[in-house]
Amino acid sequence: MRKILIVGAGHSGLHLAHGLLNHGYDVTVITGQSSQEIRTGRPSITQMTFPTALDYERELHLDFWSGQAPRIEDFKMHLYPPGGEAAVLKGRTGARDQYTISIDRRIKMADWLEYFEDAGGKVVIHGVTLSDLDYFSRMFDLIVVAVGHGELGALFDNDTSRFSGARPRVVAQANIYDVLPDAGESPNIGWAASAADAGNMILLPFLTADGPCHSLFLGDRRGGPMDVWPDRPRPDEQWRRMQDLLRTYAPEYYERVAGASLVDGSSTLVEYFTPQVRNPVGVLPSGGLALGIADVVITMDPFVGQGWNHSTRCARSYLQSIVEHGDRPFDEEFLAGAFERFWEYGLPVQSFAELCSTMWDQELPPHFQEIIGAAATYPEVGDRWIQGWDYPPDFEKWLYDPEKARAYLDEVAAAHGGR
Ligand SMILES: Cc1cc2nc3c(=O)[nH]c(=O)nc-3n(C[C@H](O)[C@H](O)[C@H](O)COP(=O)(O)OP(=O)(O)OC[C@H]3O[C@@H](n4cnc5c(N)ncnc54)[C@H](O)[C@@H]3O)c2cc1C
Repeated sequence: MRKILIVGAGHSGLHLAHGLLNHGYDVTVITGQSSQEIRTGRPSITQMTFPTALDYERELHLDFWSGQAPRIEDFKMHLYPPGGEAAVLKGRTGARDQYTISIDRRIKMADWLEYFEDAGGKVVIHGVTLSDLDYFSRMFDLIVVAVGHGELGALFDNDTSRFSGARPRVVAQANIYDVLPDAGESPNIGWAASAADAGNMILLPFLTADGPCHSLFLGDRRGGPMDVWPDRPRPDEQWRRMQDLLRTYAPEYYERVAGASLVDGSSTLVEYFTPQVRNPVGVLPSGGLALGIADVVITMDPFVGQGWNHSTRCARSYLQSIVEHGDRPFDEEFLAGAFERFWEYGLPVQSFAELCSTMWDQELPPHFQEIIGAAATYPEVGDRWIQGWDYPPDFEKWLYDPEKARAYLDEVAAAHGGR
C-alpha cells in the first residue's frame, strides 16, 4: 500500500487526505494543532463553499453541515462607482436545487480531522520543521505540504514567471448577530460589493459553533482607505471602525449592520498578506521531494473570495493525478505535472482576481453596464455572473471581452424573442 504523508490539517490537506483514504492509501496527517485547539482557536478568513465544491465534499462524505447552515441561494453584488450610487446585480449561486454555505473553519477543520482519524487515517500532532521533512522523505512514497501560510511554505520558491497579480492586501473581518434582512429577499441572501473609493466587502450568512450568524469581510489594498488597523484594535473598537467604513463607502451595508453586535470576544480578525504563486516542487536537503498544495503554492487575492474554492479544486485535482499515476514513482516530473494540471484552472482564476483588482483603474467598461442592465430584465444574466464565482474560467467566455459579452446578451435577448 502506498504511503502518503500530508503536512497540515487545513482545507486542502484534509480534503486530499480523506480522498486518498477512500482510495485505500496509507495516509498520515501531521499537523501543528489538535482538533480541540482548532475548535477553541482564533477565527480565520471566512470561506464560501460554492455548489460544485460542496458536491466535491459530498463525494467524500464531508458535507456535515448542510442540515444546519444557512443555505445561500442568491447573492446581490453592488458596484460603487467613485462617489456614486451602487449598480446592483442579483443572481443564484447555483442551479435550482443548489446553494452555497459558509462554515466557521474552526468547526469544519476540527470535524474533518476527527472524522479522518475515525475512518482509519493516522494523525500526529506536531509542528514540522524542514529537517523533520527530510527525515520523513525516506519513510513515505509521497509528501504533500499543505501548511497554508505556515513557515514551511518557504521550501517552495516564489515563481515570478507565473501570473500572480500580487498586491499587498489587508483583510478585516467580524462575525456578527442581528443583521437586518434585505427587505423582500430571502433571509439567507449573500451580499458582495466592490467600491471604487475603497476595496471589497462581503456580508453573508455564516454557521459558527453557536449557530447561524453573519460574517462581514472588508478587504482593501495595504495602505488603502480600509486599512485602518495599524494599532491592532480590540474587537469592540475594530467593529466600530468597520461600521464607520461601511457608513462611508457602502451605506446599504451600513444600514443592515448598524444594530448588529459581535458574536463573542473571538469574532474578529485582521490579516495582512501578499498574493503569490510559488514553485510547486520543494527539494529537501537530502534530495527528497515534496509537493506543495493550495495556499502553499497559490495564495489567492482575497478580493475574489476564491481561497477555499481553490483549495478544494486543487486537492481534488491532485487526488485524481495521484490515483491515475498508479504504482509509478512520484518523481519530479509527476509532481510538476500534477500542479500543471491544476494550473489550467488556477490561471483563469488569477485572471478573474486581476479583473476585480483593476476594475476601478478606469471607468467601468460600458459592456459591464450593459450586462447589469440586462440582468434586471433577464435573470439568467445575473445568474451567470454570480455562478462564475463557482467556476471563474467561465468568465473568459463572455464577461471580459466586450464583443463576447454583447454576443451573449444578444443570444439571451433572442431566446426571449427580443432585440
Ligand atoms: C493567513 C491567511 C491568509 C489567507 N489568505 C487568503 C487569500 O489571500 N485569499 C483567499 O481567498 N483566501 C485566503 N485565505 C483563506 C483560506 O483560508 C485559504 O485559502 C485556505 O484555507 C487554504 O487552505 P490550505 O489547506 O492551503 O491551508 P490552511 O487551511 O491554512 O491549513 C494549513 C494547516 O497547516 C498547519 N500547519 C502550518 N504550519 C505547520 C507546520 N510547520 N507543521 C505542521 N502543521 C502546520 C496549520 O495548523 C493548518 O492546519 C487565507 C487564510 C489565512 C489563514
